[in-house]
Amino acid sequence: MFGRQVTLFEIFGFRVKVDLSWAFLALLIAWSLAQGLFPSLYQGLTVATYWWMAVVGVVGVLVSLVFHELSHSLVARRFGLEIRGITLFLFGGVAEMQEEPMSAKVEFWMAVAGPLASLFLAGVFYGLAALGQSYGAPPPVWGIASYLGFLNLLLAGFNLIPAFPMDGGRVLRAALWYRWGDLKRATRAASRAGSLFGLALVGLGLFNLLSGNFVGGFWWFLIGLFIRQAAASSLVQLQSRQMLTGEPVRRFMTDDPVAVPHDTTVRAFVEDYLFHHGHDFYPVVAGDRLLGSIETRQIKAVPRALWDETTVGEIARPLDATITIEAGGDAVQALARMQRDGVSRLIVVERGRLVGLLTLKDLMKLLALRLELEQE
Ligand SMILES: [Zn+2]
Repeated sequence: MFGRQVTLFEIFGFRVKVDLSWAFLALLIAWSLAQGLFPSLYQGLTVATYWWMAVVGVVGVLVSLVFHELSHSLVARRFGLEIRGITLFLFGGVAEMQEEPMSAKVEFWMAVAGPLASLFLAGVFYGLAALGQSYGAPPPVWGIASYLGFLNLLLAGFNLIPAFPMDGGRVLRAALWYRWGDLKRATRAASRAGSLFGLALVGLGLFNLLSGNFVGGFWWFLIGLFIRQAAASSLVQLQSRQMLTGEPVRRFMTDDPVAVPHDTTVRAFVEDYLFHHGHDFYPVVAGDRLLGSIETRQIKAVPRALWDETTVGEIARPLDATITIEAGGDAVQALARMQRDGVSRLIVVERGRLVGLLTLKDLMKLLALRLELEQE
């Protein structure tokens, strides 16, 4: 979902990052404020003033979004949940949660914290605008405050729409979870609401596009698609996490993977393993002790003339650089490590001995099968 990101600053130990797609949103907001909203509300100012107001307005939007996500994050931390950071992207902000809340109550408080914070900010900005107006401050000053008051009201309202994974959808899920005592069922219901709402937005977008409102229509269309996709993927993510929790890695691994003895020459390895089995990754062993791993990348570094005198053991990645996992370890943790380290396979060990290979592809295939059976 995210492309390139730039870290802006760190606050309360949370790293605030901006996705490059946010720059597009910021430009769009600045442009529509400077060319549309401000000139129509506050007439007779210079073009430069409108643009200054727009720039301050965009900074205010950024502060409002961070304030909203920060509230989610602080409440999450209060309940002992780890939040990696806050990222701003095309459709607003998101607090990156590492794990799911443990109870309906925690979920509820975490979810409402954001909209409550936005409501609070709306009150503050509207208050400032009223004060500025009654004490005769220049229109650009209270004009911006009043715009930010409205924006925060909108942010609170939009986020409270009961469509998972938006805040309102999380509140809905918490309520259903509390009532039914069944997280899976609650998640399915809240996700369905999310994807229906997304579909409604897509429809609204198409209707607007057809009636000539291109910018607004396109925007609704995109947000609708995004919400539908987010609803579906957060459901799958949660279901896979639930299926893997408490399951040992052993259950998902490939037993007896093809391993290369460390004294094999590079030429023998290329001919008998690489060309024969077609895998591009092999554990390297001495007997059944794991020494490291070898990939095509390491072979490329050896000149062909030296293939007969170089052994696989000499060029293998050592054990400490090879990513291993214990056979009895939790499968959820295995998946989390693959995602965090950006690797697609782990070598499974038991007391230093090679026992299997866990690949992301196999894990996903098994999960997909089980998900399919569960849908029935
Ligand atoms: Zn929120």
